Amino acid sequence: MKRQFIAGATCPECGQVDKIQRVIDDDKQWMECVACGLVRDLDQPPAAADATDANEQTVTLKPRR
Ligand SMILES: [Zn+2]
Repeated sequence: MKRQFIAGATCPECGQVDKIQRVIDDDKQWMECVACGLVRDLDQPPAAADATDANEQTVTLKPRR
């Protein structure tokens, strides 16, 4: 399992910046907010269109239903 903070990511729940971790465990991955405990599934990894920005990828958040 691998955890990495997503630089600049804002939590959609509590609105804090730099609290979002992406957690990767084999073929699954999700994101967690360390501030409020929000957990969101990531169906697919963010497209690495620009490999040079690999550490600051934009995470697409699915709208809550
Ligand atoms: Zn949060």
